[in-house]
Amino acid sequence: MRKPIIGGNWKMNRGTPIETKEMLEKFIPLVVGIDTVDIVIAAPFTALITAYEILKNTNIKLGAQNMYFEDKGAFTGEISPEFLKEIGVEYIILGHSERRDIFKETDALINKKLKKALSTDLKPIVCIGEHLEEREMGKTKEIIEHQINETFKDISKEAMIKIIIAYEPIWAIGTGKTATPEQAEEIHIFIRSLLSKKFDEETADLIRIQYGGSIKPNNAEDLFNKENIDGGLVGGASLESDSLTHIIKAADKSIKTG
Ligand code: PEP
Repeated sequence: MRKPIIGGNWKMNRGTPIETKEMLEKFIPLVVGIDTVDIVIAAPFTALITAYEILKNTNIKLGAQNMYFEDKGAFTGEISPEFLKEIGVEYIILGHSERRDIFKETDALINKKLKKALSTDLKPIVCIGEHLEEREMGKTKEIIEHQINETFKDISKEAMIKIIIAYEPIWAIGTGKTATPEQAEEIHIFIRSLLSKKFDEETADLIRIQYGGSIKPNNAEDLFNKENIDGGLVGGASLESDSLTHIIKAADKSIKTG
């Protein structure tokens, strides 16, 4: 049985110490005691120390949204995984489509970051997904296969089971257009079959695959009820404690009802 994981990706929408404290102090009591779901808040760098102090004795883990693949050096503006680790960050989002599209991150760069995250003992959440034009041209599976092969190049089976994959169709991110549970499940099954070929069936069965793309309180339950959807990466709806809690409770319910 895979434990669902819900990650709240605040992006650059909430990141001052004051707003971080305000949100988290409302959120913590709403999810207290939920241990069937891994809960992660991926906050901007400026919020991490504040967030860690507030979250450290709770069931909510801290994540960051990006890192560089070196520990130290002349890399102005970049963030070292060692720095993140030292301030209590446990999870790291890599390869988000906004990093790929706006900041031109390639699969090769993401692969380097991934290896560094693993060697720093950060838990990677690696995003993959197709653009709308690619889906419309029937290329979704080809794109996903390419991203899996390149992003996870030279990753061992032992390392792979520590990685969380987030399938995020880019046309569904921040657009209000969610993939239907059936569309998402089809790709999650496909991803698992690729992992099974690349590693083996047992490994493929252990890897958690989140869905991401306009998850909201009103669609979360149907998505999480699908067998191969192991929770979600949530952008917009993670900014408010009530909506994020509703989504976490939907993941919790999907476990209890099987
Ligand atoms: C995301 O940022 O990964 C995301 C899925 O955003 P949203 O939920 O807003 O579509």
